[in-house]
Amino acid sequence: MELTQENYYQHDTSWKYMSVSLFKDFLNCEAQALAKLKEEWQPVSDPTALLLGNYVHSYFESKEAHDKFLEQNKKSLFKYGNPEKGIKKDFVKGDEMIKALDDDEAFKNIYMPGEKEVIVTGNLFGHKWKGKIDSLMLDKGYFCDIKTNQDLHKKHWSEDLNRYTNFISAYGYYMQMAVYRELINQTFNVDCQPFIFGVSKQTPPDHEAYSFNSPDAQFFMTESLEEIKENQDHIFEVMNGETEPKRCGVCEYCRRTKKITAFIDANDIEIY
Ligand SMILES: [Zn+2]
Repeated sequence: MELTQENYYQHDTSWKYMSVSLFKDFLNCEAQALAKLKEEWQPVSDPTALLLGNYVHSYFESKEAHDKFLEQNKKSLFKYGNPEKGIKKDFVKGDEMIKALDDDEAFKNIYMPGEKEVIVTGNLFGHKWKGKIDSLMLDKGYFCDIKTNQDLHKKHWSEDLNRYTNFISAYGYYMQMAVYRELINQTFNVDCQPFIFGVSKQTPPDHEAYSFNSPDAQFFMTESLEEIKENQDHIFEVMNGETEPKRCGVCEYCRRTKKITAFIDANDIEIY
């Protein structure tokens, strides 16, 4: 099956190619990930954060991509769904975030020249994977990803590390960068180093460029590939119906579909 810009995000390609977001979904809760993949259930989450991220992304992809995004989402983006009435307050923020990056020389010189939305595929430890690169500079040997979030300096508790950590670690971006690097390598036979441009939703927005050159960053990237190697056979078994999906018990899907089957001792309640 050929991956295209049209079918990349469709669920039927996700059955054939694993992606970082789907893998992370399965690590969080197998039952939820499978229900989503089978299109049996959808989260009732607020789409604003996703739309805001895509608003910023599409602007830097091309004018054509941004106009198409505005047209396809005009109901959500504009007051009364009418572009003539002006953009909603949530997305005025998007324009500020765009400006923060657009006015920065480093961003212009490093991110903008790259080829945008490049689809890459490859084989990781025996299974097919796909990825989509925000901006790829093959001849200079690097690739970039834009990340939007509330606050670039927010601390996130990590159960695995037993300490607070930053958004790159908390959101699995070490894994994303490691997988993309490997898929670029397999697709084009070029070793590229990753960069992330972060932009926050604060007023005014913060923005920053991140590299992954330190021994610790390299370690976390290598370790995340190990995590894939150790867990993906099981995930594919769940996807193929050979193994029952495990329920995390606390996510939106698990709460929605929960049935009491036994008492939990008061002293055994799990806390996070
Ligand atoms: Zn769950």
